[in-house]
Amino acid sequence: TPFVIAVDGPSGSGKSSVSRAVAGTVGAGYLDTGAMYRALTWWCLHDEVDLQDPEAISAAAWSLPLEIGDDPRAPTVHVGGRDVGEEIRSSGISSQVSRVATVPAVRTEMQRRQRALIEDIAARRGACVAEGRDITTVVAPEAPVRILLTASEEARLRRRSLEVHGASDEAAIAATRDQVVRRDRDDSTVSQFTVAADGVVVVDTSDLDFDGSVEAVLTVVRA
Ligand code: C5P
Repeated sequence: TPFVIAVDGPSGSGKSSVSRAVAGTVGAGYLDTGAMYRALTWWCLHDEVDLQDPEAISAAAWSLPLEIGDDPRAPTVHVGGRDVGEEIRSSGISSQVSRVATVPAVRTEMQRRQRALIEDIAARRGACVAEGRDITTVVAPEAPVRILLTASEEARLRRRSLEVHGASDEAAIAATRDQVVRRDRDDSTVSQFTVAADGVVVVDTSDLDFDGSVEAVLTVVRA
């Protein structure tokens, strides 16, 4: 059976950058499931879908013309042929994505697509690193390697602040805090990060730098 590495974690845990580096190192393909919810949110906004209307959002999820690249060194996201890789990282999308991702029918459809993508990527490339919020528990609970990346709130805020504002001084952290705390709360029906599911290995990156985090995950993968 093809090899699947499932990685979950909250924003600021280093999940995406660490997962990409791990995939690159072990020669696996890569799937960023958060990018899929972001792409759907972009599509809803682009198509003027009413974000108060769960049925309209679900219909958009079913028809979403999404193409997602699996190269960990250059992951790409296209919707309807348009490269949205940059736009889906905007604060406008970040602030709306939970609204889309918490619609149950949307999750069912995205999870279905994610299982098919993981299977396809793993078959073509021999292995797939898939990251998100519910990969270890719902999308790929049978994966031979399942990891929950955690970090203290302080460490997560510092990283997000550097990512979003290019600084981690007090003002930048304060500006980040609202966004991070709000999205954690908005996502709280999707996943809780305080306890790992049975059989999931917790890797706490609070006191690790990037290379240390990658090494810690690779140690679990190779165990
Ligand atoms: O990982 P990222 O921050 O890009 O995820 C964006 C959003 O997508 C999350 O805040 C969450 O609402 C949603 N998401 C999800 N399930 C996943 C991955 C992401 O609900 N597996």
